[in-house]
Amino acid sequence: MNDISRRKMLAATAAGAFTVGAASAQSDGLVPQPQRPGHGGTDPGPRNVLRDRQNPDLIIPPSTDHGTLPNLRFSFSDAHVREESGGWARQITERELGVSKNIAGVNMRLNPGGIRELHWHKEAEWAYMIYGSARITAIDAHGRNFVDDVGAGDLWYFPGGVPHSIQGLGPDGCEFLLVFDSGSFDEDSTFLLSDWFKHTPDDVLAKNFGANASSFGHTPDPSELYMFNAAVPGPLGSDRLAGAKPVEPTFSHRMLAQEPIKTGSGTVRITDSNNFPAAKTIAAALVEVEPGGMRELHWHPNTDEWQYYIEGTARMGVFASSGQARTFDFQAGDVGYVPYAMGHYVENTGDRPLRFLELFKSSYYADLSLNQWLALTPRELVQAHLKLDPKVLSELQRAKHPIVPI
Ligand code: MN
Ligand code: MN
Repeated sequence: MNDISRRKMLAATAAGAFTVGAASAQSDGLVPQPQRPGHGGTDPGPRNVLRDRQNPDLIIPPSTDHGTLPNLRFSFSDAHVREESGGWARQITERELGVSKNIAGVNMRLNPGGIRELHWHKEAEWAYMIYGSARITAIDAHGRNFVDDVGAGDLWYFPGGVPHSIQGLGPDGCEFLLVFDSGSFDEDSTFLLSDWFKHTPDDVLAKNFGANASSFGHTPDPSELYMFNAAVPGPLGSDRLAGAKPVEPTFSHRMLAQEPIKTGSGTVRITDSNNFPAAKTIAAALVEVEPGGMRELHWHPNTDEWQYYIEGTARMGVFASSGQARTFDFQAGDVGYVPYAMGHYVENTGDRPLRFLELFKSSYYADLSLNQWLALTPRELVQAHLKLDPKVLSELQRAKHPIVPI
């Protein structure tokens, strides 16, 4: 399959123009067949044609793909949804995406007023607000407090062990992505305020708080809280505590307020502990690639990459050394993964801008560009390897290198 028919297929899928088994679709080339001239054959079925159409690079891999790289994609659409009175949550951890030992992700929706219960966990929590707004609260180990309202494009970071809460605001609550610095994180196994109260004797609570034992014993069951319905809180000012010292450095950051770095085919915003000092274990890049553009061939010298696709469609090719390479297709709501040091590119395969997040378990963002490497290496040495057309080599050595660490 060539690029034009692949794009036509993806565009038709996005437009919902296709019906499973429709004779017209069979005849106009919209049903991918695992074959290329001289290789493979048709698939008479049974098959999931809608799914196959979303994965042209799995059904008809580029001929450069080779070997048995592990699965590097999982969609939130394939994750279990936990529904509660305050909203819903679903997670992609190393259970769902086995290769992801470094990072786990949670996609969460809070209705207006809906509260993700006061809790903590061992892992640090980094977040990107996708839609709407929320009020977040926390304290730190120095007895300082933190309360802020965050909207679309804002981040927060709570270090491991720091207790916090999230509450959806008006008019329609919020949806966000949470990223944890361990693949074994489990959103269903956090330390909940109500759980601790339920499992502490009332007389111990009374002694701890200097109150009567009869004051306790009314805490709802933890299964009723976790993510529960409540009234939308008042203005932020009314939730600020008089006399409390604020957490420093702050736990929130306005990522979209950063001036984007212009690239050859889009923009990138990089946020790590250099410009968001609280974020000590998660570094991030928000990448936008115009139609026809590509996040150039590169790799990362520090750690694995965990991706979240926000908008558009893409394909990513990953090179794993020893002749191994594999290509995956992505849509909004998918998670991608690149193991440490593996070379990769991310190509916009649609006719709309592509937006995705790159996340790293690291205090800093870093990448190495193939273009930059070749441009900064003696010409004769490069030519001895690649035998390029001299004109191409000259162009290559003048190449601009848009994505650089800040
Ligand atoms: Mn949390
Ligand atoms: Mn990358």
